[in-house]
Amino acid sequence: GSWYTVKSERGDFIECRMKGKFRIKGIKSTNPIAVGDIVDYELEETSDNVTGTIHKIHDRKNYIVRKSVNLSHQMHIIASNIDCVFLLITINNPPTTTSFIDRFLVTAEAYGIETILVFNKIDTLDDATLDEQLYMQHIYQEIGYQCLRVSAATGKGVEELKQLMIEKVTMFSGHSGVGKSTLVNALEPNLNLKTKNISEQSKQGQHTTTFAEMYDLSFNARIIDTPGIKGFGIVDMEKEEISGYFPEFFKLKEQCKFNNCLHKEEPHCAIKAALEKDEIAWSRYNSYLKILEGDDENYRTDSFDE
Ligand code: GDP
Ligand code: ZN
Repeated sequence: GSWYTVKSERGDFIECRMKGKFRIKGIKSTNPIAVGDIVDYELEETSDNVTGTIHKIHDRKNYIVRKSVNLSHQMHIIASNIDCVFLLITINNPPTTTSFIDRFLVTAEAYGIETILVFNKIDTLDDATLDEQLYMQHIYQEIGYQCLRVSAATGKGVEELKQLMIEKVTMFSGHSGVGKSTLVNALEPNLNLKTKNISEQSKQGQHTTTFAEMYDLSFNARIIDTPGIKGFGIVDMEKEEISGYFPEFFKLKEQCKFNNCLHKEEPHCAIKAALEKDEIAWSRYNSYLKILEGDDENYRTDSFDE
């Protein structure tokens, strides 16, 4: 609706409406304001209630969008001012592919949002899946992503995760079934998040409009809860830009012979050379090609609602 719950500096909650038109530079969006926004408002007090009118939205440090469910050419802002996204990954149940992870990371890089990889369900790993997990972790740590190993079930690693959340606005992402609700419950019991995905909600005949909320946790952390989103869509990305969102490519690409090199078949490509020397992981390069070709089945920008 057109009412927003704003948390005041004093810590109380005020129902506010918008005043005037707000537009977001560069995109057409269906909503002018989103969870995470910092706003100025004026109070309007009557004898029996206090409401507010929002007249200013402060500049956003970042924001994530998805395509609007109803209006195909418009964007919907999911959330803004996110300090860190925790991407939950499981090896087996369900499998999380490197192609999914890489697509997610590219999007987060493009939005300027820090991502920490959280390998969950480590209590379920056997010899083979443990090797796989450690190998995956190695790939991402090498290129600068922080990785955590946790078990929401046994509590292992949960305290470390908590420490990384303090004083931050965070989000949890990942496939359905990776353990997002279980983990949040381990962090903060009694917080009931809308983790059910959209298709599950529609099956139950519930209203499918998505709106996100922010919660204050007991250990000085804040979490944004968005229903049914396993990733976020990218607005516009030129082919030449994509390699810039792979940190390990970014460092090398200025050594390519052609400055518009797409790192495919061009001669004297520094990225292909690094790949041949195993300095770049093949899985990362394959993900890059998939994104470049725009045929990434696993993760279409227009259908990332699960
Ligand atoms: P979500 O869809 O991401 O919110 O996933 P859920 O939190 O609903 O978890 C899916 C299933 O995985 C549930 O049956 C959980 O009990 C189970 N699960 C979650 N975390 C762990 C874990 O660390 N270890 C094990 N063994 N099971 C887990
Ligand atoms: Zn190149």
